[in-house]
Amino acid sequence: MARAFLIVLLVVAPLAVFLGLVALDRHVAPGGDRDYVVRIAFPLKDAAVDLPRIDGPPDATRPLVVIDPGHGGFDPGAGAGDIREKDVALAIAKALRARLLEGGGIRVAMTREDDRFITLGERPEIARKLGADLFVSIHADSAESNSARGASVYVLSERGTDQAAARLAERENSVDVVNGVSLSSSDDAVNAILLDLSQREAQEGSVDAARLVLREADGDLRLHRGAVQAAALAVLKAPDIPSILFETGYINNAEDGAFIASDSGQRKVAQVAARAIRAFFARRSGA
Ligand SMILES: [Zn+2]
Repeated sequence: MARAFLIVLLVVAPLAVFLGLVALDRHVAPGGDRDYVVRIAFPLKDAAVDLPRIDGPPDATRPLVVIDPGHGGFDPGAGAGDIREKDVALAIAKALRARLLEGGGIRVAMTREDDRFITLGERPEIARKLGADLFVSIHADSAESNSARGASVYVLSERGTDQAAARLAERENSVDVVNGVSLSSSDDAVNAILLDLSQREAQEGSVDAARLVLREADGDLRLHRGAVQAAALAVLKAPDIPSILFETGYINNAEDGAFIASDSGQRKVAQVAARAIRAFFARRSGA
C-alpha cells in the first residue's frame, strides 16, 4: 500500500508542481511576462562595420568591385586651395560607379558615399565582408614640389618601390593617427603584414589590375609613373582580395588639380578605371 502511494506521489507530485507553476504564472503575470523582459543585444564583433549597399545586377555570381574613396570626414587628405582630396576621390569614385553600372554585368559597392571618416582597417574589411572580387581605392597625390604631375597605381608591398613610395605610405597611412593616438589595433599595423603563399594569388591579381589601369590610361591620362608602384599601404591589406590604390593625379599641381577637380576630368579618370576593371574581370572569367 505504501509503495503504491509512493509511486502515485512520484507521478503526481511533479505534475502538480508544474500545473501550480503554470497557474501561478497566469495569475501573477497575466498577459505573459514580455512587458518586463529587457533584451540587451550585444553587438557581434562582425557587426561593427555597417555594410554598404551593392548596386548592379542582383546576381551574386557577378563580379563585385568595392570602390573606396580615400579619406573623408575630419581627414581631408591632400589639399590645395578649395580642392580637397576627400572630395575629389568621392566624385571620381561616384563617376566610376556610374560608368561601371552603365556598362552592366558588374556589381559595385562603395566604402563611403558621403563625407565621413572610415578607418583604414575598416575599408578592406568592408570588401572582405561583402565578398568582393576587387578593391579599388581612389586618391589624389601631393608632393613638396608642385611640378610633379600624373597618375600612379599602387599595390601592397612590405617594401616600397623607392623612397617616394615610402613617403606616400607615410602620408596615406597617417590618417588613422589622431592627436598621436592610433585608431588601429596593433595587429592592423602595416609592419605586421606578411605576404605569404596564400596571399600570392590576390597579390598577382592586384598587379594584374594595376597594370590594366596603366594600360587603359595610356594616351588618356598623364602618368606620373608608367610602372606599377608598390608601397606599404594599410588600406590595401585585405589578404585575399586583389587591391589597388589609384593616385589619380597631383592635387597641388595647378593643371592636375584643375583636371581631377573638374567634371570632365573626373569622367575621364572614371572611364579609364572602368575599362581596366572590366578587362580585369573578363580575364579572370576567362572570357
Ligand atoms: Zn590619399
